[in-house]
Amino acid sequence: MNETTSSAPAGLGFNFDNTYARLPEHFFERTRPVPVAAPRLVILNRALSAELGLDAWALDSALGAAVFAGNSVPQGALPIAQAYAGHQFGHFTMLGDGRAILLGEHVTPHGERFDIQLKGSGRTRFSRRGDGRAALGPMLREYIVSEAMHALGIPTTRSLAVVATGEHVHRETRLPGAILTRVAASHIRVGTFEYAASQGNPEDLRALALYTIDRHFPELREAEDPIPALLASVLARQASLVARWLHVGFIHGVMNTDNMSLCGESIDFGPCAFMDAYDPATVFSSIDHGGRYAYGNQPSIAQWNLTRFAETLLPLLHDSEDQAVEMATAVLETFPAVFRDFWLEGMGAKLGLFGREDGDADLAQALLTLMREEGADYTRTLRDLCRDPLPDTPFFRGEGFKVWHDRWQARLTRQHEPLHVARRLMLARNPAVIPRNHRVEEALEAAENGDMTAMTRLLRALEKPYEDNPAHAAFAAPPATSNAQYRTFCGT
Ligand code: AMP
Ligand code: MG
Repeated sequence: MNETTSSAPAGLGFNFDNTYARLPEHFFERTRPVPVAAPRLVILNRALSAELGLDAWALDSALGAAVFAGNSVPQGALPIAQAYAGHQFGHFTMLGDGRAILLGEHVTPHGERFDIQLKGSGRTRFSRRGDGRAALGPMLREYIVSEAMHALGIPTTRSLAVVATGEHVHRETRLPGAILTRVAASHIRVGTFEYAASQGNPEDLRALALYTIDRHFPELREAEDPIPALLASVLARQASLVARWLHVGFIHGVMNTDNMSLCGESIDFGPCAFMDAYDPATVFSSIDHGGRYAYGNQPSIAQWNLTRFAETLLPLLHDSEDQAVEMATAVLETFPAVFRDFWLEGMGAKLGLFGREDGDADLAQALLTLMREEGADYTRTLRDLCRDPLPDTPFFRGEGFKVWHDRWQARLTRQHEPLHVARRLMLARNPAVIPRNHRVEEALEAAENGDMTAMTRLLRALEKPYEDNPAHAAFAAPPATSNAQYRTFCGT
């Protein structure tokens, strides 16, 4: 226990419960955030504060900064660092919260439960050689991208606040330190199950599985065979999530099993980035040399990660290992079809298609192939496709596109819904604004120099991504030059 943290008075609106801390003791370590020198609130998410039933006015203060820095622990919180393991680039490792602390679960006035986690809050038992700290740039990056994902309608952890610590962190260079307050449905990862399985106690593993069902899949509480049902439900949520990532051109960048949340939220925005020109081989992460986590590999990696999850469940599935493997395989084998359904649902909507025809997947794929061949901007091209008449662009003038366009128009006229209804559907599913890499970089660079103007403008543009707002046109535009060489970093 650290003696110098103090307890914040009540009155900020926090309403903590700490069910995770009632799991077997080795799943976590009770600990305290390590206080920082000079907490300063860099950004507070007022809209999210309101949704959570927190008092934004009270939090926008020195006291709020102290709470988000971990210098002052709110009443009712029971800070813990969670134990977990994970496959990182295919290799099994013991991990755990080495630079994050879960303050507890905040229960909103509507009865919803959210983890409140401080990321960058200092060393824990799991830190190994790391300093337990985070730098301002990557924390603001997570803030921007997670809030953008939320506005796009994609399940994601949220960002409540970023505080500067008044300290420096030492990476390749000296960087300003910061702490992000992350809000998540939970932080139960595939890696949490891998940790539990590695401890060799099936009863503790079962406790985690039942806890997960209780928290995220309450409809399975009364299921006759809840464990295979849990596997199937987790699989469906992941398939849906990764399909949605593909729909908006999102590349997570580091889909290690410890970065896959069982509830189906996007989590751990390290080297993630949105693709500009369409190419399924796109990789931005500086450490992803083999392209393991390339845009187009994300579905198969999700299936790989789900297989690791299924392996942890084997002792709970059946006493006979053969039978257990058979049960797990039966569920895992459904992944390609389940994924394809989610993918096609979204691609169909992006093209204004109602109902399903046999050729729909082909139609969508043919457009993507053309876009790859032409190096067309993914987001802009699909948004432009919603317009009538189509804008005069090199891509739309191409011979290949004209052939495709006829085929698409024929498909649209075969459905009952009139064209203006199809267009409305398209506008609702093809974002005009995404957090483009060059805009994110620009905003972060200014923010690191103490100027939040660009970041504030970017965040405002990202709030309503499906609207054409002339004031935000600059944020909708693709980069002037190719971004293919753009590199992202883990931020550790
Ligand atoms: P991440 O890349 O944030 O998913 O982190 C992977 C693992 O490394 C997790 O166990 C983290 O807690 C740990 N980690 C990352 N950065 C640090 C750091 N600066 N100090 C200690 N542990 C860290
Ligand atoms: Mg992680």
